[in-house]
Amino acid sequence: MLLLATFAATLDAAAAVASKLAKQKAVAELLRGLEDDDRRRAVRYANGRPFAATDERVTGVSSRIVGDVVRDLLRIDPAVLREASIRHGELGEAVGELWPAAAPDAEPALTMADIATAFDALAATTQPAAKKPIVRDLIGQCVTDREACYLVKILLSDLRTGVREGVLQAGVAEAFGLELKEILRTQLLAGDLGDVAVLAKHGVHGEAAFSLFHPLQFMLANPIETAADAFDEAGGEWVIEDKLDGIRAQVHKQGDRVAIYTRTLDRVDESFPDVVRVIRSVPGDFLLDGEVLPWRDGRALAFAVLQKRLGRKTVTAKQLLDHPAAFIAFDALFLNGELLLDQPLVERQKALNAFAAIHPALLVLPSRIVSDPALVEAAFEAARTAGNEGLMLKQTHSTYTPGRRGGAWLKLKSHLPTLDCVVTAAEYGHGKRRGSLSDYTFAVRDGEKLVNIGKAYSGVTDAEIAELTTLFKSIAISDNGRVFQVEPKVVMEIAFDQITESTRHASGYAMRFPRIKRIRIDKGVADADTIERVREIYESAGNLGRKVEPPPQPPVPAEPTLFDF
Ligand code: AMP
Repeated sequence: MLLLATFAATLDAAAAVASKLAKQKAVAELLRGLEDDDRRRAVRYANGRPFAATDERVTGVSSRIVGDVVRDLLRIDPAVLREASIRHGELGEAVGELWPAAAPDAEPALTMADIATAFDALAATTQPAAKKPIVRDLIGQCVTDREACYLVKILLSDLRTGVREGVLQAGVAEAFGLELKEILRTQLLAGDLGDVAVLAKHGVHGEAAFSLFHPLQFMLANPIETAADAFDEAGGEWVIEDKLDGIRAQVHKQGDRVAIYTRTLDRVDESFPDVVRVIRSVPGDFLLDGEVLPWRDGRALAFAVLQKRLGRKTVTAKQLLDHPAAFIAFDALFLNGELLLDQPLVERQKALNAFAAIHPALLVLPSRIVSDPALVEAAFEAARTAGNEGLMLKQTHSTYTPGRRGGAWLKLKSHLPTLDCVVTAAEYGHGKRRGSLSDYTFAVRDGEKLVNIGKAYSGVTDAEIAELTTLFKSIAISDNGRVFQVEPKVVMEIAFDQITESTRHASGYAMRFPRIKRIRIDKGVADADTIERVREIYESAGNLGRKVEPPPQPPVPAEPTLFDF
């Protein structure tokens, strides 16, 4: 039986060393010696997952529940816990610091199996009030500060040990003498790294079958500025398609069961019962990649229509009528028993089109093959005229590489680029917005850090600001009454006139006239743009007059703390 204390000691040791190889070794040593169930749990919990990646249950434990329980158990002032959380930037280490010293004869006894049992019970209850006693009972069994610290980290799926999924994958490979690529491939098929560790241990990873209902990472596209760039980079032939303005979606179907995942790998089928109904009516088992669009009478509507549907758990008949949606497929990764991932794009699309020809309820995005930049330019203009965002160019013989932005897919957007930025601080506005958090400071990724690049307050509606105000208050790390430093969770697409060099922000750049184009509910921090992309835009020909200093702006709140993501 694996004790939580042993798990904590291993991860503490891994966190204490900087080298990834040393972290990986610590993980490998732990995984080798465990029983299968503990092996699965160790991998999942270290990866910040209470359940298998193929298991859709959630525990529903919030930092508020944990905070209440800890304050109650330790009889401490809320301000003490809040202050320690701000100092550590997380609740786990704060609880560790405040945990009383263990009695000399007290032996840690809480096991990973106990935690798993509590997770099952948590998933089976919906009311926060019913979850509290379960959490209280679990935390109350901790003896040492490190147990308490790690239990809170696991409960909140926020480990911050530097043992990310990549280290765990390499650790599993090292533990059982396999190549990393064998582990990645098995995980792609089976879905859950904990299960992969068990398959690898028994040498049967090669027999892993493809299972539906675990989201695959999406294949991503690189931005290009002109059609000619594509031909400079790779020449030859490209499949071109309109770039639709909706939400990227992965549709899994088997029998009557349907799941729709977004780019953040969250399920959204509750928000789209109309889409689910159509997909369910198409016979067969499949995994398709495509876009959910606002859709009426065979035509796409404005994206704003779709925003009314997102994030809703129950959709009324009126909303379905007022804001209808449809799924348009542009790729097939699995179709009626055949895994198509490794086939060339043209073959995958051939299979998709043949399937849709028999089942016309399934909508497929038209595509064609071109080998001339002038045709791409013309298609781009036609796509824009049709109200689409731009054009996608995909290499005809590329395989589907999940999670990769490898240059096999390119995106040609409007001539003015935008940046997907992460909000790091929100601040009260002025005038009629003085009661709402309506001014946002945002950042781009710089390696593992986030660096601020600008601040904007225009482009969001009053209704969105009201929702964001509630959200930002719930994910605030600290505030001075006016400016709230927030957990970096919300991604916004920012349009601007140009990028300038600036000492105002940690990124070394600023945006001139930034405007919020859209809240990217479909993107997570890992999808945000990088400082390299900012530099690229800064140096591109389109970024004219870049020596101009940005106009005076209100003072910027302090830099965000550095976060893992
Ligand atoms: P961006 O959101 O600018 O990073 O562009 C990538 C996104 O374009 C994808 O995640 C899709 O949501 C979207 N997209 C729209 N049309 C297509 C298409 N035909 N092929 C692939 N992605 C598309």
